[in-house]
Amino acid sequence: MNITIVGTGYVGLVTGACLAELGNNVTCIDIDKSKVDMLNKAKAPIFEKGLENLLKNHAGKKLNATNQLPQTAEVIFICVGTPSREDGSTDLKYIENAARDIGKKLKSKKDYCVVVVKSTVPPKTTESLIHILEKESGKKCGKDFGIAMNPEFLREGNAVYDFMNPDRIIIGANDDKSYEKVYGLYKNFKCPILSTDLRTAEMIKYTSNAFLATKISFSNEIGNICKALNIDVYDVMNAIGIDKRIGRAFLNAGIGYGGSCFPKDVKSLISTAKNVDVSPKILNAVIGVNENQPLKIVELAKKKLGTLKDKKITILGLAFKPDSDDMREAPSIKVINELLASSCKLAAYDPIANENAKKIFGDKIEYASSLKGALAFSDIIFILTEWEEFNDEKLYKDKIVFDGRYVLKKKSDKNYEGVCW
Ligand code: NAD
Repeated sequence: MNITIVGTGYVGLVTGACLAELGNNVTCIDIDKSKVDMLNKAKAPIFEKGLENLLKNHAGKKLNATNQLPQTAEVIFICVGTPSREDGSTDLKYIENAARDIGKKLKSKKDYCVVVVKSTVPPKTTESLIHILEKESGKKCGKDFGIAMNPEFLREGNAVYDFMNPDRIIIGANDDKSYEKVYGLYKNFKCPILSTDLRTAEMIKYTSNAFLATKISFSNEIGNICKALNIDVYDVMNAIGIDKRIGRAFLNAGIGYGGSCFPKDVKSLISTAKNVDVSPKILNAVIGVNENQPLKIVELAKKKLGTLKDKKITILGLAFKPDSDDMREAPSIKVINELLASSCKLAAYDPIANENAKKIFGDKIEYASSLKGALAFSDIIFILTEWEEFNDEKLYKDKIVFDGRYVLKKKSDKNYEGVCW
């Protein structure tokens, strides 16, 4: 099938590369020229396992990048960002701009195609795009073109694997023709494919992320109680996670969730609820716990070391999760800002996120190019991301370690403090 992807970030690029791997002809569009240039050289602008290989195999063949929408698309995926506004609601300007561009193109397009929203958008947004598409194209949705909502559930760091091995696929559509076209792309996947209307598909994505964020904040709250009682919260979570009704995933207590999705999606769902006069108590608590959780590790250090003023501290891990270079809303940002406010001198090391961290902290901190270099900087260590290479007790001989991610799992060592254990 001829596919166009509008917005070639984490979701768009992974979707495009995987659909090319599945035999489709994919055109990736982005307003960022540097991304387009990199893709055409088979270089990935982001780090994702397996992505560069897919680009090597398909760039210039089944996968091409440009900044112009082509005429040939049978399916156009919208994968642009949907960031938070100051008040927590979702800023729809990128998605509306993308819909306008697509609408203009549809005007001169002869063949039927389906516009598929893959970005995470508040319920009713896709319906509102129909109006924009019809206005710009002068054509009728359901007759001249179709519309669908197909939320994405991939995890950064495992995005290629997750796209190829989904737990389920949701296709929201208002008419059979739109549904069938999108179904055609996924029909060989061995997972449930659920058909819904547009706004249900949108709501499924928010509910999924809000539930996962809730599990994390719940674990952190239990972790804070466990810490005060000298109980290892991981012993507790490992035990309750065996219960099939609960499940073990997302019960890892620590310094909280971050990334481009959970923080903004929970806020957006709260904003959606408020718009329909529902006051969401659990969701507000989820955010409340998460905002405070990164600061717990700084409190622990202050309790153990007294004032942190002028102390040299090594930060291990900057990305919001391992196997990713994404720093968006990473808990490390809050921790580092708090330590800088306490006049600490910091050197940070992340296997792949140092460059993205430089865009946030500039020269306020030092960046170590190796784990060894980072450990040589100081005897006080904060572990903020659970990278595999940090999981070696021998590295920390004679160091004081504050572990935000249960990397070392040490229970009784006077030089080791876990944030919730
Ligand atoms: P991103 O910021 O990495 O990528 C968005 C891209 O869209 C950018 O490259 C930007 O230049 C481009 N863009 C913006 N406006 C454009 C336009 N008019 N035409 C062409 N390109 C345009 O964002 P992302 O992380 O890939 O997220 C995209 C959407 O997918 C969001 O709604 C997000 O919530 C959702 N989502 C993200 C993830 C994730 O793990 N990152 C997972 C599931 C869903």
